[in-house]
Amino acid sequence: MRNECNIIRDLLPLYAENMVSPDTAEFIEEHLKDCESCQKEFQHMKEPHPRQEITDAAPLLKLSRKMKVKRIQTIALTAIFVITLFISAFAVLDAPIYFPYSEGLITLEQHGDRGMLITFDEEVTDFDYTVYDDPDGGDFYYCDIQAWTSLWDQWFSKGKEKLSATVTTGLTKPIIVVYVPNDGSENVCIAKYDPDAENCIEKDVNYESTIVLPRLSLGYYLILAIAVLVILVIVWFLTRKKAEVRVWIERIGLYPISYIFSLCIVSGFSTESYSLQRDFFLAIFISLLLYSGLLLAHSILRLKKEIKKINK
Ligand SMILES: [Zn+2]
Repeated sequence: MRNECNIIRDLLPLYAENMVSPDTAEFIEEHLKDCESCQKEFQHMKEPHPRQEITDAAPLLKLSRKMKVKRIQTIALTAIFVITLFISAFAVLDAPIYFPYSEGLITLEQHGDRGMLITFDEEVTDFDYTVYDDPDGGDFYYCDIQAWTSLWDQWFSKGKEKLSATVTTGLTKPIIVVYVPNDGSENVCIAKYDPDAENCIEKDVNYESTIVLPRLSLGYYLILAIAVLVILVIVWFLTRKKAEVRVWIERIGLYPISYIFSLCIVSGFSTESYSLQRDFFLAIFISLLLYSGLLLAHSILRLKKEIKKINK
């Protein structure tokens, strides 16, 4: 009896799959009728094996989850790409184009009792002025004026009214009005405004011209970004065998890359800037956008690799 049981158990898997001859099937059925232990074995064989099924499905589940994440990340990446493109376009279109000084660019007039009215040529779409005490202790104020336009304004804001501003000091000192061309050339003294003089606006003023030099800070940040990038590349090569460390180096390294790119977008490959604050903040903003985009792209590439591995 025991010997027969062993034979039957060897055959049971085949029998369960209907892969035995009718004679063998009959022989097995006969045996099962009488042998309880073999019957149990057969029942057990027919039952589904839930545990095994889960482990079989696990890679599939993992795969579909990864594909879902990849799809969402790709959508987000596209959105970030579009936003970055728009802001970069804005940065280029909004970049200030400073005017060189010319007769008629700025007109000065007496305004009210003790005020000076500055009127700009209609081509000027934006301006800035600062009034400050003479740093050498002279008995007068300086008023530095800058005037500019941008591609955006040239296209969309033409034909508007002339811009103007009123400067009042409330004090008795005269103001020396200076135009700052922001192109590396000398500042131009336009006039001296003295509310107490008979001829308030005096044009021929003795003025030692100065040159406003571009700020080079953007260049320092650029060098810093490149240095960090070089160090990270070296570390990346040194950690060839540590995949986890490498992933983090790649993630960090994407930031200097983003920054260098956005600096190129904002200041057009020039590290000199006459509008440092604007350029700096725009570069930071665009670089953060670019960075999140690159991080996403990095993650999508990694997921792609993993999905490929699971599919194999
Ligand atoms: Zn048996």
